[in-house]
Amino acid sequence: MPQPRLAPKRQAVQWLSTLLLLLMPFVRVGGESLLRLDAVSRTLYFFGAAIRIEEFYLVLLTSLIFLFIFLFVTMLFGRVWCGWFCPQSTLTDFLEWAERRIGKALGRSAIAKPVCHLIAVALAFLVASNLIWYFIPPTEYLRRLLAGTLGNVAGISLVSVAFLVWGDLTFIRRYFCKAICPYGRIQLLAMDVNTLTLEFDPDEACRCIGCNSCVRVCPTGVDIRNGFQVECINCGRCLDACRDVLNRLHQPGIMRYTFGRRAGGGGRPVNARSLLPATVIMVLSCILAFAMAHRTEGTIKVGRGGDGGVRRLSDGGVVNFYTAYVENRSRTPAVYGIRVEGAAGEKVELLGPTNELKVDANENRKVDFIVRVTPAPTSSRKLKLRLLRGAERVAEAEMTLLVK
Ligand code: SF4
Ligand code: SF4
Repeated sequence: MPQPRLAPKRQAVQWLSTLLLLLMPFVRVGGESLLRLDAVSRTLYFFGAAIRIEEFYLVLLTSLIFLFIFLFVTMLFGRVWCGWFCPQSTLTDFLEWAERRIGKALGRSAIAKPVCHLIAVALAFLVASNLIWYFIPPTEYLRRLLAGTLGNVAGISLVSVAFLVWGDLTFIRRYFCKAICPYGRIQLLAMDVNTLTLEFDPDEACRCIGCNSCVRVCPTGVDIRNGFQVECINCGRCLDACRDVLNRLHQPGIMRYTFGRRAGGGGRPVNARSLLPATVIMVLSCILAFAMAHRTEGTIKVGRGGDGGVRRLSDGGVVNFYTAYVENRSRTPAVYGIRVEGAAGEKVELLGPTNELKVDANENRKVDFIVRVTPAPTSSRKLKLRLLRGAERVAEAEMTLLVK
């Protein structure tokens, strides 16, 4: 009975992950892309949350979690990212498939090569545009591109990324996986004797008929019969090829796809080494969940405003000028109020738009206001500023009341 092939599963994973990368900028939550870094407002939109630059410890924490997830996955499954998920592999597979089809359809026609080059150029621009969609929303990108107002940074990024991708798809392809990709090298450090490995079973070597099918299909030029090699990206093509050949002779394939190498006595994927990153992932995820749950809905920052000056009043009071920045981090518009507390016997008045302050979701609003204190204190001192939503205190800030 023919053994199952890995190719349909690998291709499904490859295309699903590539489509996910391609379509993620189009998915919107709360009016924003699922994942986008807005360089102008220095805000990262991440699955419905707007994280401003001051909160980048959350981004750092999330990046660390992903780093440990990659480490953990590599420890268990080796270079599975390269063979099953990496968009570079998927695009190269697609281009090779397209070239075969065009070769069949057009034969040695003079237009066959230009058509292949056109496809490579179109793919390169698609990849470069896709990258920019993580900074500029796709609809705005398209509008600006058609109007010629994309801007220097986005325009230069588009052309240079497209040029690099075109060069990679045209001249480098699999050599990138074999010798250039830094992530491929890093993965080798994480792999050990327990990692999922594809290998030629030496105990079954006598059944090999020397057809070389496994070598011909290998995208990185590995002859797996010579044992594990670092260039292997775990794609499983050699396993399929060997099964195809030997199944026709009513024999099972020779390749093994199991945890651990035969020479190392097999492997145990769950072990102290692999549990370490799993524990770190869990701890960091708990910290992130706690930090997200305790994020304040709004913030207020205050500094000196106007000319920064202080005025003494004829009635014995003093006025100071301030500028506050009120940020609404929630997903809905909010109406805030600002209050300041004075000391006993003092009258504190706020002059300016400090009531009914409307701030849209994920927006930051600048508010200029004046604080008048009567009578003026004998010396400069701190004042506590409160940001309220109804009667609920949202955030606090301190500012200095200067007295001349
Ligand atoms: S040796 Fe086999 S699994 Fe490794 S890259 Fe070549 S074809 Fe893929
Ligand atoms: S495909 Fe199988 S039978 Fe053919 S050379 Fe490779 S290991 Fe031997």
